Amino acid sequence: MTSHDDHPARCPRCRYDLSAIPATWEVACPLEGVCSECGLVVQWCDLLSPRLAVPRWFFEGDNRGRFSFMRTAVTVLMPGRFWQGVRMVHPIRMGRLAAFVLLLVLMTYVSGFALRVGQSLVIAQSFGPINLSVVLVMLKVVVIWPYYYWTAPWHFSLVIWPVLIAVVFAILSDSLHRSRVHWAHVVRATAYSMTFVAAACIAYTLTSLCTSFIWAYGNWATWGWVSPALDWAVSILMVVAVLLWWASATRRYMALERWWAVWLTVVGVSGLGAFVLAVWRHYGLVTW
Ligand SMILES: [Zn+2]
Repeated sequence: MTSHDDHPARCPRCRYDLSAIPATWEVACPLEGVCSECGLVVQWCDLLSPRLAVPRWFFEGDNRGRFSFMRTAVTVLMPGRFWQGVRMVHPIRMGRLAAFVLLLVLMTYVSGFALRVGQSLVIAQSFGPINLSVVLVMLKVVVIWPYYYWTAPWHFSLVIWPVLIAVVFAILSDSLHRSRVHWAHVVRATAYSMTFVAAACIAYTLTSLCTSFIWAYGNWATWGWVSPALDWAVSILMVVAVLLWWASATRRYMALERWWAVWLTVVGVSGLGAFVLAVWRHYGLVTW
């Protein structure tokens, strides 16, 4: 029998159960329908066989090909392409999403670790031969939290912002007119957006490693201003990428009618929240 016997045909956006509608078809089977709850135009073929047409590169897909983690992460960097391939009808696998984020965290951790080891070696070497006590101090810092020194408030707000977007989305989506979006879609979009945080951390690692080596062996006079400029470039690129990501997610993926209004509200409120948290932290009102 058809797949909707065990999986009721639900609206992909708001998850409202639409399985009563096919039962009313007597004369003909329409190709398209409209969700009575959120107004989304649905393709009945998508609802009745959602597993079809999941891209092979997609980490959540059942028939995913090899290297799907890396291929998915790279595709995230092209939001338009990502949301063209990944659609609301594709079943959301929370376990896979968690695995994706964990792998990103691991990648970020390894890159931070490499950065601290590299920097410590450069610094230690410029003060004399490396001995066991130097290595122990180094390990203490890098193992516990490799980004220990990465505590500038704007970096902090960059990391917290993508998470705040999800929180604001969850709070506002019910009150935004005709924007009923099931929370699972917000979780999916947020999980993949963490790729930008990881990419920024890795870019930061590369530029900082360059800085350390040039500090020790190269022409510091030139690099002295290049290093902060690169830092800014990475931060600005990340902000632009996250903005594009959510514009594409609300427009292409969630197919919201007034996507730009939802997008502006969500990124605006969460951006303000991240800024306030950063200022708060900067002035030592909280310590963590
Ligand atoms: Zn709906």
